Amino acid sequence: MSEPADYDAIIIGAGVIGGAVAYELARRGHRTLSVDKGPGAGYGSTSSSSAVIRFSYSTETGVAAAWDGMHYWKHWGEYLGAPDESGYAQLVQCGMALLIPGEEGHHNRVMPIWDRLDVPYEFWDRTALAAKAPTFDLRLYGPPARSDDPSFWNEAHGEMVGALFSPDAGYVDDPQLAAHNLQRAAEAQGGEFRFRTEVVGIARRQGRVAGVELSDGSTVNADVVVNVGGPHSSYINQLAGVYDTMNIKTQSIRHETYHVPGPPDMDFTTDGFAVADDDSGIYFRPQPGNNILIGTTDPPCDPKIPVGPDEELGELTSDGWETNTLRINKRIPTLGVPLPHEKKGVVDRYDKSDDWIPIYDRTDLDGFYVAIGTSGNQFKNAGVAGHMMAELIDAVEGGRDHDADPLQVTARYTGLNLDMATFSRNRQIHADSSMSVHG
Ligand SMILES: Cc1cc2nc3c(=O)[nH]c(=O)nc-3n(C[C@H](O)[C@H](O)[C@H](O)COP(=O)(O)OP(=O)(O)OC[C@H]3O[C@@H](n4cnc5c(N)ncnc54)[C@H](O)[C@@H]3O)c2cc1C
Repeated sequence: MSEPADYDAIIIGAGVIGGAVAYELARRGHRTLSVDKGPGAGYGSTSSSSAVIRFSYSTETGVAAAWDGMHYWKHWGEYLGAPDESGYAQLVQCGMALLIPGEEGHHNRVMPIWDRLDVPYEFWDRTALAAKAPTFDLRLYGPPARSDDPSFWNEAHGEMVGALFSPDAGYVDDPQLAAHNLQRAAEAQGGEFRFRTEVVGIARRQGRVAGVELSDGSTVNADVVVNVGGPHSSYINQLAGVYDTMNIKTQSIRHETYHVPGPPDMDFTTDGFAVADDDSGIYFRPQPGNNILIGTTDPPCDPKIPVGPDEELGELTSDGWETNTLRINKRIPTLGVPLPHEKKGVVDRYDKSDDWIPIYDRTDLDGFYVAIGTSGNQFKNAGVAGHMMAELIDAVEGGRDHDADPLQVTARYTGLNLDMATFSRNRQIHADSSMSVHG
């Protein structure tokens, strides 16, 4: 008879997604160990997240997950069911406007799905948008360009049609604290966490996963191992020998976001809302202290720079700062263009998948699962991802052939169907993916 494993499941990574996977498994009664090489929960890419909560995805399952995901944040303390001595992360529902530049646009994909799934939104025509955002210049300058491209300076060529406004959208005020909240919730269910502990190998026995090998030379045994390593995901998949067996790959890419003071004529923190602006190539949202956080939507002109998961990231680039502060300045001219020495923001990594859609799946190594490729847009889905992964692990370990018959998961709050085939490692690149990010 073989020795019983030390744990039912080991989760590699204690970011917001890893924390949610640990909590969901622990609350189902599994003995979990979360292992993270960082000093605490949420010190990886989670710590830099813009933490925008929005529902403007281009696949039905993407919208369903994001809409259900919002409810976790809305009921956060109740969902966690355990106190945290540091307090809880808070959802700020400032709303988000998806600007409609013309006949063509992302709204065409989103609106029919919102109608089908009953996701609340308001249609603002140009007059309504101008009334809601009097400081905005609503002329069109796109498609997005870099500021050193002469086309950036072209005259405006039309007018914004309006916007789709999601009143329930917004952001979470402290993404790292959210991961810590999940750690405390998992611990309250018996989950264990080990920090400053690096996984350097994946143990196998009789053709399936058997645990993890740590940098101190020890091995911890478990029946299930889940890779939630964020930008380290492809490296961990290589350790497990499953990298080449997956059709969709993940890659760590460098990403910057920027912080600028809000307009002098309003308090953007209390009176502003988040905006997705494909005409300019940015999204932005209020930040406490009348500041604005700017992210790029990764339009084709923006560089996608692969960077090793442990490579030095350097400072914010002058080029990125200039391009993106000028982009927002076109939309809100009263902001004024911040000077180069005022550069503020964060540099981190996305764990980008080939089609910017995550992989929540089993792998070809029995017992080895992945929640990866979160591509700069899955913070909002942490609770949903944890729920789907726990359902998947229980189903597959119980004998389900998920590859032949993809699991359909019922979303916890909305009862919507989450078709896990959308997140398969072996899918073809999603034709419907927007290949861009609004946070
Ligand atoms: C700049 C930026 C802006 C973003 N904005 C948004 C947004 O507005 N809205 C949104 O929904 N999403 C956004 N995202 C995406 C979101 O933040 C991520 O999808 C999410 O935080 C990923 O969480 P995670 O737990 O998978 O990974 P991480 O938080 O990266 O955690 C992975 C953990 O794994 C650990 N680890 C890695 N390798 C090992 C190993 N070998 N051994 C032990 N531990 C290991 C790391 O130490 C790390 O703590 C953004 C991301 C970035 C970077």
